[in-house]
Amino acid sequence: MSLTSEVKKIARKAGADLVGIASIDRFDNAPADLHPRTIFGHPESVIALGCRHLRGSLKVIEEGNYWQAYNCDSYQYLNEILAPHMLRKITVFLEDQGYTSVPIHNPFSSHQGRPVRPGGTRPDGLISLRVVGCAAGLGELGLSKLFLTPQFGPRQRMFALLTDAVLDPDPLFTGSVCDNCGQCAKACPGDAIPLERSVEFKIGDRVFSHALLDCEKCRYPHIGWDPCYSPFLKPDSSPDNPPEYYKWLDTRFRHHTICGGRGCIRMCMDHLERTGRIEKRYQTPMVEGEQWIIEEELR
Ligand code: SF4
Ligand code: SF4
Repeated sequence: MSLTSEVKKIARKAGADLVGIASIDRFDNAPADLHPRTIFGHPESVIALGCRHLRGSLKVIEEGNYWQAYNCDSYQYLNEILAPHMLRKITVFLEDQGYTSVPIHNPFSSHQGRPVRPGGTRPDGLISLRVVGCAAGLGELGLSKLFLTPQFGPRQRMFALLTDAVLDPDPLFTGSVCDNCGQCAKACPGDAIPLERSVEFKIGDRVFSHALLDCEKCRYPHIGWDPCYSPFLKPDSSPDNPPEYYKWLDTRFRHHTICGGRGCIRMCMDHLERTGRIEKRYQTPMVEGEQWIIEEELR
C-alpha cells in the first residue's frame, strides 16, 4: 500500500468522513500571512480532513426542540476529542516513517504574538481550513462562504495536517454543489450573507468565490442574542447577565451556539437535499414548512 493510501486509511479509521490531499504548490497564490509555511517551514503536502455534523443535531434545532446535541457533538466532541485523536494518529504514523507533521485543530487563536526574526510573520500562524478543503479536492465554497462537499453539502467541520511527506495530491473538485439559490442569505437571521460573490481566489486553474460574510452581523444571532431566534433569552438577559442555559452550555461543552446555521447550514442542506445536489437522500426533510421565529408574545 502506498504512503498516501495508508494515511487515508488511518484517517478514516480514526473517524474522518472525508480525506483529501493537497500538494503545497496549491497554495502558491495564498496571501503570505495565510500560507501553510507561516505554521511549518517544510510543508510538502496538506492533508484535509472532514468530519460531518450530525444531521439529527441540526434537525432538532430546526424543530426548535433541543440544542445540546449540536453544541456537544459539533463543537466539543469534534474540536476537542475527535480532531486531536484523529490528527495525532496520522501524525504519529508519519513520524514513524521519518516525516514531521503538524496537526491544525479548530478553533485556534492566530497572529497573537510578535515575529521572532525580521521579516517573519506573527505567531500563531493561520491557514483557512475551508481553503484547505478546496485545495485538497474535497469540494468548493458556497455563496455563504461555507465549505460545501458533494457528500454533506455544508454539513462538516474541517481539520488539516501539514507534513513534509510528499503524498499523492487529489485532483481539484471540478463540479459545483452551490447553485447560488440565495436561500442561505434569505434565512440568515443576522442578514450577514450578501447575495453577491465578491471574494475570489485561485487554486491551480480553478477560481473559487464566495460572498463577503459579515462576521459581526452573524455573531449576534449565532451566540444567541436575538430574541426572535433564541428560546433561552429572558427580558433582562444581557452579556453581563446571560441565561442560565448559556452558562451551562459554556461550562459543560465550553461553547454555546444558538443559531445552529439557520440559513448557512440548515436551509442550505434542505435546498441541496431537495434538489438532488448532494449524494445522499434522507427519510425526514431538514426544513418542514416555515422556519420558526419566536413571536413577540412568547419572548
Ligand atoms: S443556500 Fe444556496 S446559495 Fe447558499 S450556499 Fe447553499 S446552495 Fe449556495
Ligand atoms: S450562523 Fe446563523 S447568523 Fe451566522 S451566517 Fe449562518 S445563518 Fe447567518
